[in-house]
Amino acid sequence: MHRVFLALLVILAALVGLDALRPDAAADGARSGEVPEQRAATQGAAAASAVDLNPERAATRRRLRDAAARTYLDSLLLGTDSLIRRWELGSGRALDVAIVEGGAPEYAPRLANMVREAAARWEREGLGFYFTFTADTAAADIVIRWQSRLESEDRAGQTDLVWDRLGHIRRAGITLALRNTTGALLPDDALLAVAVHEMGHAIGMPHSDDSEDVMFPRARHNVISPRDRLTAYLLYQLPPGSVKESDS
Ligand SMILES: [Zn+2]
Repeated sequence: MHRVFLALLVILAALVGLDALRPDAAADGARSGEVPEQRAATQGAAAASAVDLNPERAATRRRLRDAAARTYLDSLLLGTDSLIRRWELGSGRALDVAIVEGGAPEYAPRLANMVREAAARWEREGLGFYFTFTADTAAADIVIRWQSRLESEDRAGQTDLVWDRLGHIRRAGITLALRNTTGALLPDDALLAVAVHEMGHAIGMPHSDDSEDVMFPRARHNVISPRDRLTAYLLYQLPPGSVKESDS
């Protein structure tokens, strides 16, 4: 029943995060230059059919702009499809996470604990959800897998989201790489930084333009910053969905 419900609602899917990690300088010293983030978002034909000058949207846009000095949620108005995507929350909503152990010869069980820690860092922000862990990948809200490297050069993590026309995230898939582009194993602090970053995308977080934030495209930090925190609060206060000025 649950699956059928999901199948009916899931109408939009896109690759929302394809992330870069600056290769560890100590490991190889190479390719530390900035490489443009690859970010793609496609939108199906069933875009929201709201009317122009929607007052709720206008209010949301105002709140995004008013908070722009302290958050980066307004980046949604600039570089992406102007859609606020987040999980629909009841009181104390559980998000089921399936960690698919293995997948790469470099995989080690400690990596599952690293993902649990990444999830816990967002959970501790008190956004209205908590994470539970399941082995059932078909029923899970968020599925995490590992690969030696991602197909895309110079990327250490990728998050694919599925959301409905209201902007509610229905499913997230995270792929984490274990090696950088030169083939060197990523150190644990870098793996954790990417895991926190991708888990951020999985709850709907956009990119930050500040390298101190975990949502900076080239994730370096694994501790959620005050700006990350305020952005996440704002994300879970605002109504999801399009914040475009009109659907022209
Ligand atoms: Zn990202």
